[in-house]
Amino acid sequence: MTFSESFRAGPPPAAALRRFAALLEPDADLEAAAREAQLLTRRHFGKTMRLFAPLYLSNECINICKYCGFSRDNPILRTTLTVDQVETEARHLAAEGFRNLLLVAGEHPKFVSEGYMAECVARIRPFVPSVSLEVAPMETEAYLPLTAAGAEGLVVYQESYDREAYAELHTAGPKRDFDWRLDTPERAYAAGFRRLGIGALFGLAPWRTEAMALAAHAAHLLKHCWKASLTISLPRLKPAAGDFAPRHPFTDRDFVQLLCALRIAFPQVGLVLSTRERPAFRDALANLGVTMMSAGSHTEPGGYTGAGRDTLHRTEKGRAVSLAESEKEATATEQFSVSDERSPAQVAARLRELGLEPVWKDWEVCLGA
Ligand code: SF4
Repeated sequence: MTFSESFRAGPPPAAALRRFAALLEPDADLEAAAREAQLLTRRHFGKTMRLFAPLYLSNECINICKYCGFSRDNPILRTTLTVDQVETEARHLAAEGFRNLLLVAGEHPKFVSEGYMAECVARIRPFVPSVSLEVAPMETEAYLPLTAAGAEGLVVYQESYDREAYAELHTAGPKRDFDWRLDTPERAYAAGFRRLGIGALFGLAPWRTEAMALAAHAAHLLKHCWKASLTISLPRLKPAAGDFAPRHPFTDRDFVQLLCALRIAFPQVGLVLSTRERPAFRDALANLGVTMMSAGSHTEPGGYTGAGRDTLHRTEKGRAVSLAESEKEATATEQFSVSDERSPAQVAARLRELGLEPVWKDWEVCLGA
């Protein structure tokens, strides 16, 4: 049974996630949970923190997602990097130390085809040992050239597990299909991806309900996709083009409570923290259960080197229009604004001050390097 089938059948058996649900109660003992989460993280991951960077290939998109800066109807500056430009960005990140990159793209088959993505992966794999993708969901067969090219990870956030909220927020484009998205990790696993990443975008629906569904999804994947390592992300809504405001609160305290609950319920699952969060909060969470962090991130194509400006254009109602004179020196529009603007080296130095060892690639852990 796929996850969409079991999700449709109703909530998971209470016993399966009872401890997790108790940890999410408003009056749960947060200090005790934090202590347990920290202990479990050290036991399973040592004092390491994997670092990665997102590399945006394109901000073209055919979907309308009300909360996203790249949404089709937003009149923003867009571009798609050539494979050469992707290599330029990747080499810049590799020079900063990264060996673990996440290739990100909006959904637009004309600009971001499977062949293009496979070429991008194949081009950077010789100097980037760990490449993951956060791109439009595909059929299993369509994923095969990507795993063959060397991509090992596939990240797909459900955004919201609330069907009604999902339908209201995704008003046009293939992304409207809730179940298709929900089963994406399983199709990716069948195609050979051995790192799967899931998450919800917090702020779209009540957080405790989202958290329960996210945990049920994680439990399902751990059981059915057991050869893969699983990561969970907790992105919070950030300001973006379109000016969508969060509809449901998800405070710092809520964030900590959920992070600790996930660590306790899923001790071996990687927990990912992005630069959406501000530096002091990231520093505080680093010792609580997070095992993987992005650093020095840009959320626009060409953000690291300025690549792709030669094909920059504005879109209005989905149609490309020429740049105004005042936009000639502009760069592509970002997906959302980052809150932690420290460089990768600064983040790594801070992690060391906090008693953690930044890890730029996985096998360093195995070799004890
Ligand atoms: S969230 Fe993804 S699919 Fe939706 S508009 Fe943004 S880039 Fe496109």
